[in-house]
Amino acid sequence: MSEPKKFLKFGSSGIRGIANKEITPQIALDLGLAIGSLYPEVVVGRDPRIAGEMIENAVTAGLLSSGSKVVRIGMVPTPTLALASKGHGCGIMVTASHNPAEYIGIKVFKDGMSFDTEQQQKIEEILMTGTFRYANWDKTGSVRNPGTAIDDHIGLILQNTSNACLKVVVDCGCGAASVITPYVLREMGCEVITLNSQPDGHFPAREPEPVDETLGLLKSTVRAADADLGIAHDGDADRMMAVDDQGNFVKGDKMLAFFAIREAKKAIAVPVDASKVIDDLLAGIKIARTKVGDVYVAEELKKIKGEFGGEPSGAWIFPRISLCPDGIYAAARLVEIVEKEGELSRLLDSIPEYPVKRGAYLCRDKERAMIKITQELKGLGEINTLDGIKADLEDGWILVRPSGTEPKIRITVESSNNCDELYRRAEEIVRKAVA
Ligand code: MG
Repeated sequence: MSEPKKFLKFGSSGIRGIANKEITPQIALDLGLAIGSLYPEVVVGRDPRIAGEMIENAVTAGLLSSGSKVVRIGMVPTPTLALASKGHGCGIMVTASHNPAEYIGIKVFKDGMSFDTEQQQKIEEILMTGTFRYANWDKTGSVRNPGTAIDDHIGLILQNTSNACLKVVVDCGCGAASVITPYVLREMGCEVITLNSQPDGHFPAREPEPVDETLGLLKSTVRAADADLGIAHDGDADRMMAVDDQGNFVKGDKMLAFFAIREAKKAIAVPVDASKVIDDLLAGIKIARTKVGDVYVAEELKKIKGEFGGEPSGAWIFPRISLCPDGIYAAARLVEIVEKEGELSRLLDSIPEYPVKRGAYLCRDKERAMIKITQELKGLGEINTLDGIKADLEDGWILVRPSGTEPKIRITVESSNNCDELYRRAEEIVRKAVA
């Protein structure tokens, strides 16, 4: 029986850690064996990270050892793998998403969506108890390399978008999007200028996370080329962030509202930390709030049969494509909207932006501090305990969450007219609790 390993717990994004230190071939082999013990056919893909091939081969060996048939689709974005999982038992993606280059990880999908909590627990149980199913010598698995996953994904996106003749700058960050987004936009009719669109697991151009600070080249190129917009992805292209025609980074909450007002018909799902602007813009629409993490947004969307879900971090879920955030489709949809409705900066101007303030406090005993914080926040307004504790007040909200990975308590405050004062009150409560 193998030793239980603490980092083999699936988080909201599978397992993730530093390659060959925290995530080793042994771990990947065990995970392949565990998944293969439950699924007779599995599709496997990876992003361009240096350790990607090593982990892909180890996970494949585990699957084959259990007798599973493996469908290898090579270097692809996560949403491409998620889509491919629809035709097979499940899908394994070797990726560390937006983390720095030294990280690697594994995410697992079924029917186009991340494993839910129950599916994750079944795998964890096999890993913990070591109850792997080894196939007989003549029943070990086989590998196929069909090579059509990217074409299938491109086909689905083109079926769901109309033509557009815009000038678009695309920054793939040397990630997996390099093999798909520029091609999709060109097929739609756009003139595409590519930046960092050669896959390279060292991520030499910028950090894989597409945030304002990492997108200087994209912003200046949009201005210099007089382009209609810019697109940026993270390492595995489940995220998409944009730059408008003025060369300004579009904040996550604005992008979320931008898509939501166009997609929502009856119901959408967003995490607890998304701006209240969404509630103010979508009167009459059911807005389901979830824990922070795209897996939770997807689970809720499935439950409420919503038309759209998203996170301000850049994960946009369009159930018409799949329940995996799809940065490539999001880019195509954004381009389609700008073609039909006009300048992106002008369209964004109609969406208000509420001031937000964030901070974090060191805290060793998070559980004890959270009990104190909960008592204090209860006195302030309506309480929501979906993820940490959120107090909804008349002029905004306060969210206090224990960090999942660090000894810290995080505060987020949003208010259209009273942000500093609310933050000061939240800070006082947290400071007392962690003392
Ligand atoms: Mg990602």
